[in-house]
Parts: sequence; C-alpha cells; structure tokens
Amino acid sequence: MPGSLKTEAIVLRSIRYGEADRILHLYTPGYGRLGAIAKGARRARSRFGARLEPFFHIRAILHEGRSELHTVTGVDTVAAHPALRGHAATLDAAARACDAVGRLFETPEPHPEVFRLLANELVLLDLDPAHARAATGLAFRLKLLLAAGILPQLGSCAGCGEADHLQAFSAAAGGVVCGSCEAAAFRRGQVSHDLLVGALGRPLAEAPDASELALAQAERAITETAEHHAQVRLRPLVGRR
Ligand SMILES: [Zn+2]
Repeated sequence: MPGSLKTEAIVLRSIRYGEADRILHLYTPGYGRLGAIAKGARRARSRFGARLEPFFHIRAILHEGRSELHTVTGVDTVAAHPALRGHAATLDAAARACDAVGRLFETPEPHPEVFRLLANELVLLDLDPAHARAATGLAFRLKLLLAAGILPQLGSCAGCGEADHLQAFSAAAGGVVCGSCEAAAFRRGQVSHDLLVGALGRPLAEAPDASELALAQAERAITETAEHHAQVRLRPLVGRR
C-alpha cells in the first residue's frame, strides 16, 4: 500500500499529546528513529491498548503523512517485557538505554545492528534484574559508539601509534594515548582499558564487571567520546543508586 509502511519498532518515548493522543519516538531496524502519532491511544477502549508504552517491542503499520510524524494505524506486540517494569533498577537501565539510542541515532538512517542491540538489552533486563548493573550499561554504550563509527582507538596510541605505555585517554585524539602524547588527556588505569576492550569483545550478557573506579573511568572515556565526536551528552550511569 503506498504511503504506509510495516516495521518492527521499539518505543523509545511515549509522550501524552492533546486530549487522548500519544506522540511516539520509535526506533526501527530499517528506518532509524521515527516520530509517530497514535490518535486516541489514551482512550480507555483504544485499539492500541497498552502497546505504545516505552520499551515495547512492536510490529507497527505506519501511515506517512505530510508532516514529519507518521500516523500509527496498527500495532502488534512482539515483546512487552513485563518483568522489566517490575523493578526500579531495570526500568531505569531501560530508560537510559533508549535515551542513548535516541540521542546517538536520531535520524532515519538505518542501523539494524543498533535495533538488535537495543532489543537484546531489553530482553536481558526483562530476564534478570542483574543486567541492570553499570557494566552492562557501559558495554551497551560502547557497542553504540562502534555502530556510530566513533569507537575510540584502544590498541595503540591515537596520537603517535605507539603500542606501549598507553596510560591515558583523550577523546579529542580519538582513544588511548601514550605518555608522550598525554598532554590533554586524562589518566586512566589499565583496569578500565581492559574493561573497554573486554566489553567490546563479548556479548552484552557477559559484559565484564570491575571496580567502581574502573567503571567510572570507562564511562568517562565513553561519555567524552560521544560529546567530542557526536556532540551528544549521555546521561550519567555509574555510581547511581
Ligand atoms: Zn603517543
């Protein structure tokens, strides 16, 4: 049907609009981030039911109108993630994951790998509240940087290529730097370096844990990279209670 598209989507945000509508931020495998309006979605007997709440993995039919917003005309649930909604920590981790995706990938450019990563993160949070830990959240963000093409260089000095004495991190230089290139960098221990490398090389479910200091250093590297190379400010993750 011309003017309409069928797609899987994850609801990143769901905002009350007008008397009974919802404005949705959707993340899709083939169309990136889309804005949509679901008319009448907040009425008690809406045909959409509760399927347009944040973190729902849905299959949707969207009508492309003249405005930037698509109109939702049909919705099926792929995964509702009910257990995720039962704990403050998993709700919070899911909100941070959706927020990071929405900020780093805000255009219609397709990134199916980002969609799968986010779907996977929500499934993990639904399966076991232990996945709400900071290490999983950092691994998730690091994989987002990889998908965005701004992964910091971790194997050799981003300034001069030196493979040894990598003792600091510089978002401006693009990764770890050696002692001689250290000027504008912040010091980060070997532990956080191993953490970053380990998080990238493993599935999300097996993200390596570390001390709070190492996690905080790894987070700083990720946050500064997103700010410097994507002008995106990510919400703080480590040390929250
Ligand atoms: Zn160097």
